[in-house]
Amino acid sequence: MSTTTRFTLTQAEIPTHWYNVLADVPEPLPPPLHPGTKQPVMLHDMTAIFPENLVQQEMSAERWVEIPAPVREALALWRPTPLLRAVRLEKALQTPAHIYFKYEGENPCGSHKPNTAVAQAYYNKIAGTKRLATETGAGQWGSSLAMACKLFGLDCRVYMVKVSYHQKPYRRLLMHTWGAVVHSSPSHYTDYGKKLLAENPDNPGSLGIAISEAIEDTVKHPGTKYALGSVLNHVCLHQTVIGQEAIKQMTLAGEEPDVVIGCAGGGSNFAGIAFPFVRAKLTEKKKTRIVAVEPAACPSLTKGELRYDFGDTAMTTPLMMMYTMGHDFMPPEIHAGGLRYHGMAPTVSHLRKLGLIDAVAYPQSKVFEAAMQFAQSEGLVPAPESSHAIRAAIDEAIAAREEGKKRVILFNLSGHGLLDLTSYEAFLAGKLRDE
Ligand SMILES: *Cc1c(COP(=O)(O)O)cnc(C)c1O
Repeated sequence: MSTTTRFTLTQAEIPTHWYNVLADVPEPLPPPLHPGTKQPVMLHDMTAIFPENLVQQEMSAERWVEIPAPVREALALWRPTPLLRAVRLEKALQTPAHIYFKYEGENPCGSHKPNTAVAQAYYNKIAGTKRLATETGAGQWGSSLAMACKLFGLDCRVYMVKVSYHQKPYRRLLMHTWGAVVHSSPSHYTDYGKKLLAENPDNPGSLGIAISEAIEDTVKHPGTKYALGSVLNHVCLHQTVIGQEAIKQMTLAGEEPDVVIGCAGGGSNFAGIAFPFVRAKLTEKKKTRIVAVEPAACPSLTKGELRYDFGDTAMTTPLMMMYTMGHDFMPPEIHAGGLRYHGMAPTVSHLRKLGLIDAVAYPQSKVFEAAMQFAQSEGLVPAPESSHAIRAAIDEAIAAREEGKKRVILFNLSGHGLLDLTSYEAFLAGKLRDE
């Protein structure tokens, strides 16, 4: 073989620590505020819904956080994940660019989300939590948490956005297989859900509504805590195994990326690939461009406002300083369900404000064209969310071709699309619309 295309690490090389970018940023992150008093939240404000160990991690500025042995053992079910070079895609694009991708779809759930799900389940378990409540959109997070709860012996309750509950049965069935109880949201199990259903029995639901229901469930059931699959500092922290592995694998490939790309919904897989590279920018003066890619239909980083906003629709969460479309923003029903969140992780927002990362937005038709080109050259069928990163990577490779110069591109392929084939069906039938 002329070119090595797959770069793998051994289990012993699974990172031993998570990397906290907040230890290295030149300006501190504005603190979350209590929704009532508008004062910075205290530890005890958060422990109603999260275990104390995770709240401490959420507020921590420690640079390297040791990964507990049971979490590393769970991660070893699928980590380290491979880094691949997309030589066939390079050829199809006739580009001098080298395109690498870190692949987070080779695990039982098919996305990066179990990286944090197992950590959150572990910390809850040792804190004495019996049951976790959460929300899910298309089901990637719900299924990841369902699996993690099973691995660590916790009960799991998932509020799943109604449209997805009915239109995307497969991840709901995965959740059932891993023993979770799943409700269509808005549901009759919470006062907030009942109120919304009384106003409109056909309410299609949203991520913000499902979060509100999961939080209400949490505060009403002793022994229950809440788990979030993105946005929060500790979630972004848990994903940094991705970028740390990728740095080692790029060294194996003998290259350094000029540009690092990730799709961004709440910001966690982007944080995972990007933060270790941001560290190299801050501490080693590297010039790497780091790009977050979002849907044009929900463009918090490129069109949103940087201000304090709620994480949910019912305005029950702390106020976070983030790029936001507004907590009552109802994103159009694009196929990349995992990118339909009104806000962006405060850490990612902060890096954007400081000019350490860039952001672009694409309409879904352009994204699916890229997904098709990737599937037809590399074989792998990408998740619609991840395909946003592919779109940006392809455009970088085309720009390199036009310049006639080599460019090393690295993107995170956050998941596979095998449970999203109805989206491909819509694209193939010419029924995919841009807003
Ligand atoms: C959930 C999801 C996303 C978006 O979430 P982030 O927190 O922004 O990473 C992206 N890709 C896949 C495959 C997902 O399941």
